This record gives sequence, C-alpha cells and structure tokens, in this order.
Amino acid sequence: MASKSDSPIARWIEANLDCGKVTKESFMSSSSWSNAYRYDTDSGQRFFVKEAKGQDGTMFKGEALGLQAMYDTQALRIPKVYHHGELSSLPEGGGNGSFIIMEYVEFGGGRADMGELGRCMARMHQAQPVDENARAGKFGFPVDNTIGGTPQHNGWMDEWVPFFRERRLKPQLKRTNDARLQQMGKHLCDNLDKFFEGLEVKPCLLHGDLWSGNLSTVKGGGWAILDPATYYGHHEAEWGMSWCGGFNGAFWDGYHEILPAAPGSKDRHSIYTLYHYLNHYNLFGGGYYSSAAGILSELTNKC
Ligand code: ADP
Repeated sequence: MASKSDSPIARWIEANLDCGKVTKESFMSSSSWSNAYRYDTDSGQRFFVKEAKGQDGTMFKGEALGLQAMYDTQALRIPKVYHHGELSSLPEGGGNGSFIIMEYVEFGGGRADMGELGRCMARMHQAQPVDENARAGKFGFPVDNTIGGTPQHNGWMDEWVPFFRERRLKPQLKRTNDARLQQMGKHLCDNLDKFFEGLEVKPCLLHGDLWSGNLSTVKGGGWAILDPATYYGHHEAEWGMSWCGGFNGAFWDGYHEILPAAPGSKDRHSIYTLYHYLNHYNLFGGGYYSSAAGILSELTNKC
C-alpha cells in the first residue's frame, strides 16, 4: 500500500520499525511548544509523534531518556520511545526543529484502581536503577530537563540533601527575586539537614512532575504516566505535586503497603511541596506567593 503521509518522520517509521506503510497521519493536539500526531500503519501498529518546530532536540532528549528509564522499571505502562532528535537528522530532512516517536497508548477506560496505582508507583521507586551513577548511590540524571518550562539541572551529586538544596531549592529561590522568600529560603537551606536526621536516602527513579494531568488509566487495564521531569532522588520528593494529584486514601494505602512512611516525612513533604509552589510562583505568580511564603514560614520556625 502506498504511504499516505509525506512526512520524513513517516519515512523513518516505515524504514526502521517493521510496521509496513504509514496509512494515516492525524493531528491530535498542540501545546505552547509542540504539535502531537498519531501515525497509523498498515500493520496495525500506531505511533505517537511530537514535533517542535524551531526547537533543538534538548527537551525531547530529556523526555525520551526519562520515559525510557521509567519504561525499564516495568512498573507501569510507559510509552516505548523509538526515536528522537533533530528533524534535520532524518534522511529526508525535515527542516528546523525536533521530534520524538513513541508507542501510541490508548488512554482511558479500565477501572481506576487507585490502590494499584499506589503499588505501581512504589514498585517503580523500588526498582534497581539502570543508570550506573544511580546504582553507585548518586543523585541526578544523565540530562537536564524542565519542570513546567523551568530548567531543572540534574548534574550528579553524591548526597541527597546537598542535591535538593543546590539543584532544586536554591535555583527556584533565586528566580523569585523576592527578598522575603529568599531570606526564609536561606535559613531553610542552611538547616535542611535537620529534617533528614537518621534517615538513609537512596536514589530512586522519580517521574518528577506527577499530577493528575500526567497520569491515566489505559484501555485494557493498568496505569500510564507520561510527560515526566525524571531524575534519581528521594522517593518522598515524588509527592511534591500531590496537591494536584487527586490521590485518595486507597492510593496512599497501596503505596505505603510497599514503601512505609518514614519518621519526619510530614515536614519533608512540606519541603518537597515548597519546591513546586516556588516553581508555580515563578511561572504563574499570583496566589502561589502566599502558598510558598506560608510553607517557608512554618518550616523556618522548625529549624
Ligand atoms: P506536551 O509535552 O506538548 O504537553 P504531552 O506529552 O502532555 O505533550 O501530550 C499531549 C497529549 O497527548 C496528552 O495529554 C495525552 O493525552 C496525549 N499523549 C501523550 N503521550 C501519548 C502516547 N504515547 N500515546 C497516545 N497519546 C499520548
């Protein structure tokens, strides 16, 4: 059957993925920086493709490595990534921009068993790291990524508390340009160790931006998570976005069945939430200021 798409991405799929010809290319959605398409093939295999005109391949590289690392844990349904890069690297060229090609996953349907999602997340956090730096006990990721558009640096560090202070809290505090937040933030950063006394933190693979918009049931069963800001960090840090996660009691019971809550986790939860409130303030301003300031004030009173 003749191909129904002129796109160089369709040519790459046909040449490399043993799926016959691309029979249909359907526009699915667009965001501020990329367009998403579904490619159907005559073998029945379908692919999800994102294209970002005018962007170099950095963001898709971060997304691809993050999805791949989560896929390797086999804990949840993660779309398999087939290829990513600059459009100009394709044999037929594709202009200025970048792309990612992954498995198309049919979302929705199935039973929304939140307890099972909790157990799946715990299994992902417990998985033996594939990355050799993480296996050696380091915190970070092989590439930098972004958290809702804000750069997130992931250079490897040997210890968790300095990593969270230097790579997470301090850059967000600096971005606020606000003396009050920065003053309280400095006090918290100087005393951060106090919240981790007696705790052994191991590097766990984190999705990094887990909220309700980035998770879904899958047709046929199970849960998928996508659009990650992945790195190896303290598993409790995963829950810094739980204020928009919609996680219920069954979810937490499922998660803690496998990874029980550790002493002091309540205050650390505030610290991890603070990171995301600061990021939201930096991205959207407004009411997030008082959320961030409120948490900072509570935490600084404790240290
Ligand atoms: P962006 O990074 O531009 O926000 P997303 O990765 O969030 O794009 O994808 C946009 C939408 O496309 C998601 O909300 C989801 O519904 C859908 N989607 C994402 N990945 C897949 C996939 N692998 N298969 C099918 N649909 C997907």
